[in-house]
Amino acid sequence: MPTALPLAALETDREFAPRHIGPGAADEPLMLAAIGAASREALMRTIVPESIRRPAPMDLPAPVGEAQALAELRAIAAKNQVFKSFIGQGYHGTLVPGVVLRNILENPAWYTAYTPYQAEISQGRMEALVNFQTMVCDLTGMAIANASMLDEATAAAEAMTLAKRSVRSKSDTIIVAGDCHPQTIEVIRTRAEPLGIQVLVGMAPQLMAEHDYFAVIAQYPSTTGLIHDLKPFVEQAHAKQAAFIVAADLLALTLLVPPGEFGADIVLGNTQRFGVPMGAGGPHAAYLACRDEYKRSMPGRLVGVSIDAHGAPAYRLALQTREQHIRREKATSNICTAQVLLAVMASMYAVYHGPEGLTRIARRVARYTAILSAGLQQMGVKVLTPHAFDTIAVETAERTDAVLAAARAERANLRRLSDRIVGIALDETTTRADLAALWRWLAPAGATLPTVEALANDCDSLIPAALQRQSAFLTHPVFHRHHSETAMLRYLRSLADKDLALDRSMIPLGSCTMKLNATSEMIPITWPEFAEPHPFAPADQLQGYAELNAQLCGWLSQATGYAGISLQPNAGSQGEYAGLLAIRGWHASRGDAQRTVCLIPESAHGTNPASAQMAGMSVVVVKCDPNGSVDLDDLQAKCEANADKLACIMITYPSTYGVFEPRVKELCAMVHRFGGRVYVDGANMNALVGLAAPGEFGGDVSHLNLHKTFCIPHGGGGPGVGPVCVVEDLVPFLPGHATAGQTREGGVGAVSAAALGNAAVLPISWMYIRMMGAQGLKDATEVAILNANYVAARLAPHYDIHFSGGHGGIAGGGVAHECILDLRPLKDSSGVSAEDVAKRLIDYGFHAPTLSFPVAGTLMVEPTESESKAELDRFCDAMIAIRDEIRQVEAGAWPREDNPLKNAPHTAASLLAADWTHPYTREQAAYPVASLRAGKYWSPVGRVDNVWGDRNLSCSCPPMSDYA
Ligand SMILES: *Cc1c(COP(=O)(O)O)cnc(C)c1O
Repeated sequence: MPTALPLAALETDREFAPRHIGPGAADEPLMLAAIGAASREALMRTIVPESIRRPAPMDLPAPVGEAQALAELRAIAAKNQVFKSFIGQGYHGTLVPGVVLRNILENPAWYTAYTPYQAEISQGRMEALVNFQTMVCDLTGMAIANASMLDEATAAAEAMTLAKRSVRSKSDTIIVAGDCHPQTIEVIRTRAEPLGIQVLVGMAPQLMAEHDYFAVIAQYPSTTGLIHDLKPFVEQAHAKQAAFIVAADLLALTLLVPPGEFGADIVLGNTQRFGVPMGAGGPHAAYLACRDEYKRSMPGRLVGVSIDAHGAPAYRLALQTREQHIRREKATSNICTAQVLLAVMASMYAVYHGPEGLTRIARRVARYTAILSAGLQQMGVKVLTPHAFDTIAVETAERTDAVLAAARAERANLRRLSDRIVGIALDETTTRADLAALWRWLAPAGATLPTVEALANDCDSLIPAALQRQSAFLTHPVFHRHHSETAMLRYLRSLADKDLALDRSMIPLGSCTMKLNATSEMIPITWPEFAEPHPFAPADQLQGYAELNAQLCGWLSQATGYAGISLQPNAGSQGEYAGLLAIRGWHASRGDAQRTVCLIPESAHGTNPASAQMAGMSVVVVKCDPNGSVDLDDLQAKCEANADKLACIMITYPSTYGVFEPRVKELCAMVHRFGGRVYVDGANMNALVGLAAPGEFGGDVSHLNLHKTFCIPHGGGGPGVGPVCVVEDLVPFLPGHATAGQTREGGVGAVSAAALGNAAVLPISWMYIRMMGAQGLKDATEVAILNANYVAARLAPHYDIHFSGGHGGIAGGGVAHECILDLRPLKDSSGVSAEDVAKRLIDYGFHAPTLSFPVAGTLMVEPTESESKAELDRFCDAMIAIRDEIRQVEAGAWPREDNPLKNAPHTAASLLAADWTHPYTREQAAYPVASLRAGKYWSPVGRVDNVWGDRNLSCSCPPMSDYA
């Protein structure tokens, strides 16, 4: 009989950390030997400067296994109460098609993909995004739309600045119609203030008559449900050389004259109700569309159609994609990560329903709204919205509290507009029973309740005849072909098959930390208790979220050493912005409003200077030494030159070069001495968690990227969460949210539409920390550093590695959690560029490392702790085989312009061409290493021509003849 397992072994079976961390116990000694380190501890001593090491471990609850963590989170989720929502205000009930839920939101082929910078391996998700852009253009009647924005409120703020830089009017005033959603107005105010833009909120017609302005923004239909005829006001604005911006509801636009048809310049809104759950505020994709003349200064990402090396159509990110990196502090928007997964979901909702299906859903909502209104009036209740789509405002005769209470007693929420008025919004999920209930709650004493049957015949919709849409939309075949579930399933599968995501191979993206997104971390996000709540539901219904927020903030505080954290920013860029606003607010509170200079090292990520610009700061660039470390002499000089204007410095730690600058404490002290604060960009926290805390070594503010370090998947370019973390004296300057009833005295306003930002993905990071515990997280950091050093050691004989030049016996002094391969010398010797290597890696089945950031002509590799030694070896073998190919070019065996690198990636079609004219064999092209014969990723297109695409800009679905 076998001996019984010891109890401890049974426990170990349930431990999560060994599932998350790739290399096993047997691998580690081999890897350490390859690096030349005696032990992991010795490696850490060499790499991580003693001066920044945290004195005490993180204080986190002891880790639990997957099942136990899920059980605990279930108990927290149960404290959220899901009420039926009639609140509206930009968030609506929706029925997520099962085929979309399972095959996109719950499918790692979609959710683990990276932002589509490498066009060839991203054709599937870019087709989905082009569908999104086409859907938005068609529904809004605008020329061009991007994919996508973070939320409706920030999209409105971006529209404001887009208008500011596009119109001829020299005014600094924007007029905001008072019946825009309140959270939109709040975010516009936050964003306008540092830029010196005056915001006038009120009756737009009156304000337009009385003031000069550069733009007007109106909601269509309004937040209370009214449908205004905006056309005369658009003309009035244009007569003043100002822009007219419309925040519009896409479902309503299936029935309403689209803003593009009455001359709007910019149209924006949310796509949440297209099959994305409310999630207590996010994530969902907002949209922004504009007239053609504005396209070159549009914020956000734009997917365009170009051609590949064989002349076939191919998608790629267009124009301003690299705007922040190229234009730096002159960039006009800091949007980077941008809700792509949710944009994909919304686009597929439109693909699945098609124009007839969407219209049917909208007509049903409009008709129910008309019936609801008629029934109320029949009972003598006054309805204040004669023209409406899905939302009405109802007079309660000062009975608002009683009406809300009656609804709550039956687990429903209406919107409180005032003591005398409630708002009621219907949606796709509304039933006849809902109408009956609404009548019951609102009925005056003794009134006879109406019935749907009696009213239905007389009610079609409350949309005025003159504003009914006549034009067709979604005419492209893609919106007509996939209406059966079988067709939809196969369409989604065919798109996913075109792409390379983490479910196929490692994605070694420096700075972006593409680590495991564990299934158990993902499971809770679709639990109704997290997915369904309305962001403005009463606080007592959101207690689960309150607890999740408090625990997660506490744990992140432990990881970062900061005193206060807000989870409101819904991307890293937004966390940067919120952090800079905190610094700005703090200076102003001390009478130092003139402190507006933000020092930024030249190696910084492009979002840093862009955020500084948006926060009303002026950027002064600080030099770096050849290691990418801040040049402290130059810093001293810049501090002295700006002594009374210095607001802060923004550094990244470890640096964007993947180096732990040993003098960081000195740097922080210097900036502090000059009265400035230190912002530490936390994108590289994966090299710090458990080892060092920015709040302890001198940082005053950081943002984290929960979608990097804390396991929220990249989703092909979002969702993200960018918590802003601050030291004690800056806590009062964290973002507030008046619309959600969370004001901070004298503090900073809202930076996101919802108080808890992308609330519904927070369970992912909660699960990760809960299952890893303090030791597991520290191990993860150490193994991330170990893996990077292993890759560096294996590749060092073949490539120039950008080592830290540090101390100790490690090859070259070691690297942090990522390493830079300098390919510039190879360009001279062989003509092969970093981009050629990136594309050749596709033939080997890999996503390229980060290309040309932070240094042009380099590749930055970040393996993360989740990759096993076997996968690291497969990657290193590929890189070494590629180096051998380059040697063939160097030796003259293959011409500089015709070799497997220049022609990469190779499509199956190009390899099967009747005449093969290249100086290498088809086998060398397709199967350069034997293991590829067992399983091969085939690039669906050849190398994509970026320049052609920018010259021939087209961002909607290509004509059917081009459409495979
Ligand atoms: C990713 C990243 C950001 C921006 O984060 P987003 O979530 O994409 O907005 C900022 N700084 C650095 C160093 C990054 O790597």
